[in-house]
Amino acid sequence: MDPAHVEPVVNDTLPSPDDHFTPPWMDLARCRSLTPSEFFPSDGVGVEVAKRVCAECAVKSECLDYALTHRIDHGVWGGCSERERRRILRSRRVGAL
Ligand code: SF4
Repeated sequence: MDPAHVEPVVNDTLPSPDDHFTPPWMDLARCRSLTPSEFFPSDGVGVEVAKRVCAECAVKSECLDYALTHRIDHGVWGGCSERERRRILRSRRVGAL
């Protein structure tokens, strides 16, 4: 086979380089100066501590929307635990039926 005639394989499921930019709202995140471990807690107490930080965050709704849109499974985002985000996604699916 002539290599000049090989069709390129396009895989639309792979993220594009544009998917890796940092959204502007992250500059206003209240958790910016905290350690990641505080937002990826291993127990319920850690979740409550993170949620208290989120409660006063100016970009809470943007953060939650980002986590839901990107199906982020782990950590506290937008004041919601992993379980709460799963519940929101489930209720949206039910609502879409
Ligand atoms: S809502 Fe919480 S996790 Fe999201 S940016 Fe604000 S402080 Fe960070």
